[in-house]
Amino acid sequence: MSDFDLFADDTGDAEAATLTQQTLVDTQQNLGKMLDLMPIGLLIHTEQGVVFANRQACSFLQTDATQLRGQHLLDFASPEDLGAISQALQMTFSDPQATFDIECAIMRPDNTSRLMKVITSSLPWPGTPVIQVLMQDITDQKRAEVSLRQMTITDELTGSYNRRHATYEAGLYLDAAAAGGMPLSVVMVDIDHFKHVNDTYGHDAGDLVLKALARLAHEFLATNTKLNSPLFARFGGEEFLFLLPGASEQAGFALANSFRQRVERLNVALPQTKLKITISAGTAGWREGDTLDTMLKRADTALYAAKAGGRNRVCRSD
Ligand code: GH3
Ligand code: MG
Ligand code: MG
Repeated sequence: MSDFDLFADDTGDAEAATLTQQTLVDTQQNLGKMLDLMPIGLLIHTEQGVVFANRQACSFLQTDATQLRGQHLLDFASPEDLGAISQALQMTFSDPQATFDIECAIMRPDNTSRLMKVITSSLPWPGTPVIQVLMQDITDQKRAEVSLRQMTITDELTGSYNRRHATYEAGLYLDAAAAGGMPLSVVMVDIDHFKHVNDTYGHDAGDLVLKALARLAHEFLATNTKLNSPLFARFGGEEFLFLLPGASEQAGFALANSFRQRVERLNVALPQTKLKITISAGTAGWREGDTLDTMLKRADTALYAAKAGGRNRVCRSD
């Protein structure tokens, strides 16, 4: 090999090394740019704290990358989720195969909180344990989910639960009653001569009456029962249902009667006047072999008897 060849080889090696070095730098820069473009927050985290944060993570945490370095994800945990986040981090640091996916509230420096999906997983890097923390802001999505769910279980006019939700909940309580755990009773409520209200004062006035009755029922349940989770629902038209888990047939009847008396004292404010209304009700308690259908049929028969008996009264099923 001539000196010339040697020289030529050295130059080639040096050029290749420079190229490799430059490629690495370019790759790092390009990767950094790619990570910054991701719509997901990314933190590279050691047990001591953050060593890298992409732009989205900085934006979520309202901090710049330099300030974030050395801070800890737990510095941003809301008090109620501190334990869950801490546990996910600890377990990810101690198990290289582990991935944790939690929903938690993150507090930002301006004291606003955002609900985040946080996914932690270990990075297969040599040396001290390093994990990646991916963050996705799900605040708006959760809010939309909650309001959509609210819409599916609520009666639009009165804000009470609707028939679908009452039926669903009743199924759960019937199962509990059948399993021998808990008594259960239902009360069917129907406004007396409601058609007359509509005919005399108009449909809007009728709507005000329905709303006033629902408001009263919610207040009544909040202040008058020691039951665990009583439920009041608009079952249709001017018919409502109390679902009373934990209440025996007798307790359901007593509660219905006390609500009837409370309705007697109600004055519904209409534009034209203050209106008095009455209700009739039929009650039924759970019996062996009952389905919701059979219970409601008995309550309905009792309600019919209350109407036939002169209204403004409560009857219990035989
Ligand atoms: P009873 O004492 O036998 O129960 O007589 P009632 O007049 O209350 O019963 P009826 O079944 O004859 O009439 C119920 C009325 O309720 C008829 C219907 O137009 C009215 N209604 C049903 N839903 C609504 C509503 O959402 N708003 C209003 N304003 N009226 C409604
Ligand atoms: Mg009716
Ligand atoms: Mg009626």
